[in-house]
Parts: sequence; C-alpha cells; structure tokens
Amino acid sequence: MTGNSTTSLDFCDDPQCVNVLLPLPLGKAYTYAVPDGLALMEGDFVAVPLGVREVLGVVWDGDIDDVPPEKLKAVLAKLDAPPMTESAQRFAEWVANYNMASLGSVLKMFMSVPDALKPPKPVTAYSVNNDLPEIKMTKAREQVLGVLKDNPPLPATLLAKEAGVGTSVIKGLAKLDALIAVELPPPAAFKIPNWQVSGPKLSLEQASAAASLRAHVEAGEFYVSVLEGVPGSGKTEVYLEAVCAALAQGKQALVLLPEIALGAQWLARFKARFGCEPTEWHSDLTQTTRRKTWRAVATGEAKVIVGARSALFLPYTDLGVIIVDEEHDQSFKQEDGVIYNARDMAVVRAQLGDIPISLVSATPSLESLRNVECGRYEHFDLLDRYAGAELPEISIIDMRQDKPATGKWLSPNLIQGLKDTFAAGEQALLFLNRRGYAPLTLCQGCGHRFQCPQCTAWLVEHRFLGRLQCHHCGYQMKPPDKCPSCDQADKLYACGPGVERLAEEVQELFPEIRAEIAVSDNLHTPTQAQELVSQIENREIDLIIGTQIVAKGYHFPYLTLVGVVDADVGLTGGDIRALERTYQLLYQVAGRAGRAEHPGKVLVQTHDPENSVMQALKAGDHKGFIATMSQDRERNSMPPFGRLAGVILSSSDERAVDQAAANLARTAPRDNGVMTLGPAPAPLALLRGRHRRRFLVKAGRDVNIQTRIRAWLKATELPRKVRLQLDIDPYSFM
Ligand code: ADP
Ligand code: ZN
Repeated sequence: MTGNSTTSLDFCDDPQCVNVLLPLPLGKAYTYAVPDGLALMEGDFVAVPLGVREVLGVVWDGDIDDVPPEKLKAVLAKLDAPPMTESAQRFAEWVANYNMASLGSVLKMFMSVPDALKPPKPVTAYSVNNDLPEIKMTKAREQVLGVLKDNPPLPATLLAKEAGVGTSVIKGLAKLDALIAVELPPPAAFKIPNWQVSGPKLSLEQASAAASLRAHVEAGEFYVSVLEGVPGSGKTEVYLEAVCAALAQGKQALVLLPEIALGAQWLARFKARFGCEPTEWHSDLTQTTRRKTWRAVATGEAKVIVGARSALFLPYTDLGVIIVDEEHDQSFKQEDGVIYNARDMAVVRAQLGDIPISLVSATPSLESLRNVECGRYEHFDLLDRYAGAELPEISIIDMRQDKPATGKWLSPNLIQGLKDTFAAGEQALLFLNRRGYAPLTLCQGCGHRFQCPQCTAWLVEHRFLGRLQCHHCGYQMKPPDKCPSCDQADKLYACGPGVERLAEEVQELFPEIRAEIAVSDNLHTPTQAQELVSQIENREIDLIIGTQIVAKGYHFPYLTLVGVVDADVGLTGGDIRALERTYQLLYQVAGRAGRAEHPGKVLVQTHDPENSVMQALKAGDHKGFIATMSQDRERNSMPPFGRLAGVILSSSDERAVDQAAANLARTAPRDNGVMTLGPAPAPLALLRGRHRRRFLVKAGRDVNIQTRIRAWLKATELPRKVRLQLDIDPYSFM
C-alpha cells in the first residue's frame, strides 16, 4: 500500500495534522491540525494552544489521535529555531523510558531556555544612501560618510567610534535619509577554538590512547572507552586530542564536568591551548547568556561545550564526541525532578548519535570497570607518570593512639606535619567534608538536640553567620541563649567539628598563617572559585580548609601536605557505595599533594585504621581494592551485578503515606528474579515537611526492572496527596 490512500482512517500520513509533544509532565503528545500553507516536519518547534494558554512544543513522531482534523485545535506558528534532531528525539524517549519519567518532563530539560526559540534580535547597522539627498555638510558628517566608504554597514556605536563623532551625528544623518538602516544578524558570540595548534608531545602510552579516540571520532562510530590514570598522568591532554579531532571535522564536542565552578583551571588551560574559551553551560549563567548559548549550540556556532550534567540536553546539531571527566563523581546523578545519571545517559546519547564517548577518571566507577571487564568498553590505563604524577606517600593516623587535646580535632602528628610544611614555606590543605562550625548542638543540661522541624536532620551551626541551619531544606534559626526544653542558660554545646571550627583551632595553633575556608557556601560562582585558585597559586594563602569542593582536579605546585581530618565521615549510613566513594574521595584529595619538584605527603586521621579503605590507601593498592569491592558487590548481587530501583512515597499526611505504602506492599514484585524490600521509613523520614517511605526493588541484570515496576504501580491507584518518586540505579538511599 502506498502512502497516498485517502480512504484510510489512519491520519498518520495526513499532512493536515501532527503530534506535538509539550514540555509538561504528560506521557504523550497531542494531535493538532496544521493550518494551510504551513509545512511541518518532525522536530520542528511550534506554538500551540493548550486550554486558554499558548505553549511551545515539538512536532513528534507517533500515532495521531483518531479525530477528524476539523475537530482539532490548530498549530499557531512554527518557530524560527533549528529543529530538534532525530537523534535528540530518540534520546529524549530513551531517557524518559529508562528513568520512568514522563516524556514531557524530559522534553522540558531540552527546552530549558524557551526564549532561545525566538530568533535573536537583529542588529541595526547603517550604510550610505546611494541616492544621497542634499544635506548641509559638516566635518563630523563627512567623517561618518568617509568611514562608510570603505566599510560594510556598521552599527551606530561602532560607526560613531570609527568616525570619532557622537552617535547623535549618526541619528541625524539617518533622519535626513543620508544613511539607511539595515538589519544584520547579530555577530557570533562564540569563537571557534583553534584546533590546528598542536598540544604537547604525547608519551607513547598517551599517544596510543589519543590515536584510538581520534580514529573513532573520525570514523563517527559509537564506542566507549574508559580513560584511567593517576591525577596528573595526562588524561586531559589525551581527551583534548579527541576534542581536536571533532573540531577538525567541523563537529561539536561536549565535555561534562562535575562541578563547573571548579573548572577555573580547566578553562584557563583550554584557552591557553585553543586560543579562546570554550562555551560554558551551568546553573550560574545569566538568562541572556543561556539564551545565546542554547541558540549557538543549536546553530552549530558553539563548538566545544563544557558543562554540568544538564549540558547533555542542549540542542547539538552535530556532536562528534562526548567526554565525561571524573566519571565516577556522584554529582552526575540528578536527584530531583527527572532523576537520571548523566554519565549513563551520556553513553546512551553517544550510542543514538553514533559517536564515541570517553569516561575519564583516576578512580573509575565499578560500573564502568565492569563494562570493561565484559568487553563492552575499551580501557586505557595511563601508568606512566607525567608532571610527577606520583601519588604522594599516604600515612594513616590512628586517632585512638594519637589523640587530639580535649575538644580539639587535630592529632599531634598532623599538627607536626602542618608545622613542618609552614616552616618550609609550603602550603597545606585540611580536608573535612563538613560545612559550618559543628554538625550538632545539644543541651548539656537535659540532652535536648536541635533538630530541623521539617526534616529528620540535626541543625548545623554556622557560627560566622550566627545561625543554626538545616542542610536539607534551608530552615534556619538564631541560636537561642537558653535551652528551649529545660530553660537552662549556658548549657548549649557544639558537638563535633565543621570546617569553621577547624579554622578556629588552626588559628590558635598558628596565629601567623593565612588560612582560607573553601566550601560551597562561599564558592558559588566560577569567579569566586577563580579568585581562590589565583590566591593559592600566588601563595597568598598558606592553608586551605575545605570540603570536597577542593578535592577535584586542581594542581597547586606548592601544596605539599594534605591532612584528612576525619576519614570516617562517609563510612557509616548503609550506602552500598560508601566504601568505594570514600576511597575515591580520599584518593582524589590525596592527589592534591605534591608535584615533581615538591613531593607531597598525606596524613589520614581515622578511628578505624583496619578498614579496607585505609589499608588500600596506605598500601597504594588500587587494583586490589577494586577487586575486593567488586567481589563483595557480586556476592550480594548489587550493582553493577544486579539492578536496583528506589520507590519513594511522600506526603505531608503521615497516615496517608503509610496507608499507600501498605497498599503497594501487597502487590510488590517478589518473584522471577525480583525482590522488593520495604516499605520502610526513609533514613530522611521527614524531608521539607513530607513523610517519606521507601521501597527498594532489587533484580538480576537480565530483568527489565522498569517493566516490572510499571506493571506493579499500574495496579494500584495512589491518593492525590501521596507523591511517588522513582529512582532507577539509585545513588542516594536517604
Ligand atoms: P590528568 O588529567 O590525568 O590529571 P593532565 O592532563 O592534567 O592530567 O596533565 C597534568 C599536567 O601534565 C598538565 O600540566 C599537562 O599539561 C602535563 N602533561 C601531561 N602530558 C604531557 C605531555 N605529554 N607533555 C607535556 N606535558 C604534559
Ligand atoms: Zn530541614
């Protein structure tokens, strides 16, 4: 049968109607009529009516509703924006399907800047009217006309500047019709990186990894590689070769980084090599920059995009390669809205787009290493060390033996280490993954603990701000003078250390040294991060006291001592990745110490020196640690050997959520390779005033866990006031 049949009830082939997917939490596209004279293709951005509103959406593939066109509402307009590519559409479907999110919510991530769908405002420029009217000539006017004689049309400000006159002269000439205004497209906002300048001469090992990446970019085929190597082994140099290869073909390259605010050194380095900045994408951009960037990615003007996880949903026209740097990093997992893992989705995007992707890390995730083992991913391990990429000597301090003074947190050993470092004129980093002054405040009179009224969480004291704060919901209060429970004054006691308290201790010990606290609270923007980086590079700071925000990617030549104040922070809490994550974090922090010229030293304070993480760090036994972790996960059928999904119910009404959880529990999948644990109160049983209950669905690798969960959830209706969240491949179990 040909597509010309007119008797068919199937309107699919009918140019008179189309499906339009809207960026709203809806599962499917709606059918709209196409007005005469409007030609629409799949992927086109359009404006359509929805109720009384006008909304923007995308013409989408799929079955047309079985409604005669005359009964349908009509598409209002086609927008002047490059259409969404076929591969982006399929990617959106994949993301929605896998993560069990509505397709509309996923589309919303692709349409994060609706303003960018309107064409950018043209620039008004002026040229000389060929048919020059009689005007009174002045010197200024002559100068303007003179400039335009050998120039293309120029915008008023530029023209005035060139002619050395005020803009009023231009306006006057335009009014007299001596100049005519023409509209020009706005100038390009992004420069093309110069890929022809070659990078450093690569070592044999680096060169062979780079050659393989290059070859796959040139071939334009899907291929995943894991690029492993100690910090400073040249991983970045290697993957920049793949970026060059994409640029050489006129294609775009995407580099995903975990914390863009920390990319200051990365950006400087990129600029040094390619002569211009890459295109950045993160939450800290202004609305104008977002609009320009989105549009420039869609038109292909922006070539190298470096961004946080949401950069995965930009409208690339011709993506040639994806790099995921620090691929093991947990911040690639988006934890609200559409819950997804950007690293994993990046692999999918690469597959659908038929392009190579490289996952880069000094400590690749067990998931990626497993894929290497199964032969799905290629593995490059940079063993040769560049720039003194030796991991520094790591010593474990047993806090049960080497005790700090009462109410203090630094052991005599670590204090000695700091003394030696400062005496040598070098820099130190104290790492403590706790913001604020103290993680808990309690009353020594009655034992009352300050807790968030809306969350299952202690209030963290931020002494500089004079506040007790909840790190989950932002609730805050002034620390009271007396205990609200027993009314006694002077009994409130700060328990445990945060970075602020550590700074206080250090100031007492070393009043003359210059210390700076580096936490997310004071490093919001790339500019702030850049400032801190230059202060450290210029040796205006002797000591950095920081959380994990300083653990990543920096190279500071004079930083020779890293002290891990409490290595045990992340080890409790029943998270399946607790050990792996602690190891990765400490390994990464350790990598901040020392360079070729200034060998570094790492001192790790722990109450549990026998722990496998501490043992592996001390012995430098990276491979052995991975093997043990891996065996452990396999034995328990945990990822990457099995599948997990979190099902979280929440409601402000505790009875309603318990009731709903009990109802769901009755039909929970518990056979054919699937097991459901729970419902149980989530560790964060109360969050922002909502009571939370969790199920954990566990399945074998060969089970389609989404299908099973879909069938389960379909059978039970949830009351309106109970919200359901699905977390496929969960990283947080809170
Ligand atoms: P990684 O990404 O593994 O941490 P980098 O690529 O940042 O390592 O390399 C660390 C330092 O060593 C950088 O300053 C880099 O320019 C330098 N470097 C790496 N490989 C080479 C090379 N082949 N020739 C010269 N310098 C190199
Ligand atoms: Zn709270």
